[in-house]
Amino acid sequence: MAHLPAPALLQLSNDMVKLVVGKGRKDFLVHRTAIAKASPVLQAAFRSNTWKEGRARTMVLPDDDPETIQMLLHFAYVGRLPNLNTDDDYSSIGNDHRGQYDGLARLYCVGEKYQNKDFKNATIDAMLSKVAIRDNEGSRWFPSSPAIKIIYNGTPEGSKARKLMVDIYVYGVGAANIVAYTLHLDFIKDLIAALTKILLDGEIPFFREERLWIPSCEYHEHASGECCGSGERLTKDIRGRTPL
Ligand SMILES: [Zn+2]
Repeated sequence: MAHLPAPALLQLSNDMVKLVVGKGRKDFLVHRTAIAKASPVLQAAFRSNTWKEGRARTMVLPDDDPETIQMLLHFAYVGRLPNLNTDDDYSSIGNDHRGQYDGLARLYCVGEKYQNKDFKNATIDAMLSKVAIRDNEGSRWFPSSPAIKIIYNGTPEGSKARKLMVDIYVYGVGAANIVAYTLHLDFIKDLIAALTKILLDGEIPFFREERLWIPSCEYHEHASGECCGSGERLTKDIRGRTPL
């Protein structure tokens, strides 16, 4: 059985920097050690621009959303995302099923922008967990057009999150449903490529939802062959909540 690694002892010195985020200029005072964990991009910017951001110890991020950056910083300090199903503070990213997928998609893209693989992988796990768990009426919820557009606009070709979106539609939703949405053109191209490959391989593409209910490292970013063990933890968590 995989165990969560013990969190590293927090280094709470007085070495702080300030992020000023969004149009409303929300301030976040952050330990420099947490900035390093949150993003190599931010760490390098604070280090290299000693004449500007470094000396002032302030960086302005006008194009980012404060709640999304807050989640990135939360992850840097705590080492995990809030639990989608039990933690109240998750409502900050979306308080209905579709809104939560849109929020998770935004989190993934901020992880992409600031190059935090662990954060991206954790966001993928939250989406996989959400895909797998039925609501009180027994229905499953899937990411819809806005979440797919957010992912496709905020990630490069070949992204694991793009692959997850495609696989959800190939294995979970069924291609027939895509006509109901206005989707991203690159998503349609990836979907057709995935379906073509499956048909050429002789695989039956639909009604294989269980493929999505078994979380794995397939959608994570780490060295090939490496397994972070989160699939086992997620499966246990999902089995405890809903019949598969
Ligand atoms: Zn993994």
